[in-house]
Amino acid sequence: LPEVLVYEDGMNAQDLGKILHREPAEIIKKLFMLGMMVNQNQSLDKDAIELLAADYGVKAQEKEHVNVSDIDKFFEEEENNTSYQAPRPPVVTIMGHVDHGKTTLLDYLRHSHITSGEAGGITQAIGAYQLKQDDHLITFLDTPGHAAFTEMRARGANITDITVLVVAADDGVMPQTVEAIDHAKEANTPIIVAVNKIDRPNANPQHVKEQLMNYGLVPEDYGGDTIFVDISAKNGTNVDELLNMILLQADVMELKANPKQNGAGSVVEARLDRGKGPVATLLVQQGTLRRGDPIVVGDTFGRVRTMTNEAGQDLESATPSTPVEITGLNAVPEAGDRFVVFDDEKTARAAGEERAKEAQIEERKQNNRVTLDNLFDSM
Ligand code: GDP
Ligand code: MG
Repeated sequence: LPEVLVYEDGMNAQDLGKILHREPAEIIKKLFMLGMMVNQNQSLDKDAIELLAADYGVKAQEKEHVNVSDIDKFFEEEENNTSYQAPRPPVVTIMGHVDHGKTTLLDYLRHSHITSGEAGGITQAIGAYQLKQDDHLITFLDTPGHAAFTEMRARGANITDITVLVVAADDGVMPQTVEAIDHAKEANTPIIVAVNKIDRPNANPQHVKEQLMNYGLVPEDYGGDTIFVDISAKNGTNVDELLNMILLQADVMELKANPKQNGAGSVVEARLDRGKGPVATLLVQQGTLRRGDPIVVGDTFGRVRTMTNEAGQDLESATPSTPVEITGLNAVPEAGDRFVVFDDEKTARAAGEERAKEAQIEERKQNNRVTLDNLFDSM
């Protein structure tokens, strides 16, 4: 037996058995004798663990944590570091009612305004891409619908600067149009309206304008300040004009970030690849992310082993508003998780492991918690 049982609130019989060098079965039996019926995976609270320790005649001492909120604070600090500011490209999300032309617009942009590689350069859908309009970069998030957007925002990731609202000119305002307006308002992003499908014979862009005024989106020619562009995503009509309006809006917003600090940002999407292991698309929001950087991503950590753009080309570094796909993480993070680069791998590992354990214990607590209190309650 150890002299001191260094425990964490939420540990289970298996965890405690390891520390006490006892079989979990013995721990479970002891707990049973103490009046607690548990299995080896059920998490135990402080009181239960201290009671067990006392029964073994061992001093119990709660473990001191690397403070997880400190890591969040670190992220905030990185994010709010304004000691040096450089302009950065806008990050744009396209939203709108189903079938109004979001995918068609994203595809048209993808094929007509490639920044990297040869023609047809975008080889993989990585959830985000950058394109170039008159030497200015624009980052588009290729989010699969409103759910992803809401989910990311719920997780604290506010990564969109500008919302492009696609409304089909032959269909007008529909339920998801209104939903998209609400999302954009909640996220505090300006809306640019792309009135789509103007090539259709029954297109009525004027009607769309009138409808949207009921939702506070007043076009400039009606004395408001919302930019409207009539487009055909299918034919590419006025798509350049739409990009110019995005750049104009971005200019007004004076979007800036500090590239001279540790990289920090958010996960756009992530998956497990059979060959490469965990693969994550990250949006750099602050600082510069470099190949080889020790990194904490949500509840996981690692080292940036490979870093590529949407064309699959290797990148050495990525500055704010750049979407990249990386490998080298020890687990798959979730969309909306934040990432921060640490100065050394040891700290990144410690922070990552701490966060992973916190998350695991938190999950256990949600699932099956046995405490002295609820045990007595149920008796
Ligand atoms: P999403 O659900 O918003 O992603 O809509 P899609 O991009 O899948 O488009 C739905 C349908 O509208 C498809 O059949 C498109 O080909 C068609 N569509 C999209 N944009 C245009 C357009 O500008 N003109 C015409 N005529 N059809 C379009
Ligand atoms: Mg679509």
